[in-house]
Amino acid sequence: MNALLIRKHGGPEVLTLESVPTPVPAAGEVLVRVRACALNGKDIWARTGPPGGRPTFPWKPRTLPFIGGGDVAGTVETVGSGVDEWKPGDRVFINPILSCGRCEFCLAGEQTMCVDYRIFGDHTPGGFAEFVVAPAHNVMRVPDGVPFEKAAIPAAYCTAWRMMITAGGLRAGEDVLVVGASGGVGTAAIVIAKMAGARRIFAVLGGAEKAKKAEAIGAIAIDHRDHPVFSERVLDLTGGAGVHLAADPVGAPTWQQTIRSLRRAGRMTICGASGGERPDFDIREIYQRHRRIIGAPMGNVSDLRAVMDSIFSGAIDPVLHAVMPLSNIREAHRILEHRLHFGKIVLVP
Ligand SMILES: [Zn+2]
Repeated sequence: MNALLIRKHGGPEVLTLESVPTPVPAAGEVLVRVRACALNGKDIWARTGPPGGRPTFPWKPRTLPFIGGGDVAGTVETVGSGVDEWKPGDRVFINPILSCGRCEFCLAGEQTMCVDYRIFGDHTPGGFAEFVVAPAHNVMRVPDGVPFEKAAIPAAYCTAWRMMITAGGLRAGEDVLVVGASGGVGTAAIVIAKMAGARRIFAVLGGAEKAKKAEAIGAIAIDHRDHPVFSERVLDLTGGAGVHLAADPVGAPTWQQTIRSLRRAGRMTICGASGGERPDFDIREIYQRHRRIIGAPMGNVSDLRAVMDSIFSGAIDPVLHAVMPLSNIREAHRILEHRLHFGKIVLVP
């Protein structure tokens, strides 16, 4: 099969399609023919090496060569022994959460708190290839009529669901702030907040074109190029009150402003530190105003089920920046790295 191998760290030019042996599913595994696979920030870091040379989760260096891509949708090609719930031709997506199934957190249904939590396509070979193997219990059905590219985005949508609904506790009528609003998680947070009945969704992003796209999906755009201190704009637009819930996937450059955009007792959910992991802020701005900061690195399996069912029923329409052939992977990396996208970039083998 053809697969996109990373043999060494570097720029997009290190990405090359190569012919490699097609994997064979072991007992309890299925072989999936990849029809679509979304690109994530972690795929950029898999290519460049970790940001700043500091290993990210799970805090150890990756071994090369490596096939990335954790957001897979496709069809079952063959099954390993002992797998009777899937048959060739079934339309599926892969749940990217790998967990032990036995620890106290798994037993409580919190698979991403697992003591052995890993991510498909990050700690295992992923879906930037024609075929990929996955544990049969990580495979979930895609209904007929749902295009594969709309099913190939579980990681960002599961994370955004956790940030808005499960951890964020969003209630209808609340005001929401989404920082980094043009990214995969940011755009997902906007459409989820809209579905959940948020009153106003303020979207912090850069550039008029992205602002127009954010307004088209129901957000009120705040262009940080016009409003570098975006919290002042949020406070202006909310009559000085601030928002009930803010989602910040960016980190150090935005934390201070995100915190200042919160109402008293407002909640801030965080899932990443793509802009830096050591923010500078005054802790009194948290406790004196009864604010809460809540970690939401990715949702659990029931969060994933809920958000994917919302997509499959049409309640949420995932925001796709582009669907591109896998052979255009270098261009896809450039778009994501230079933040030229609005929504997910999906690659098709
Ligand atoms: Zn576990």
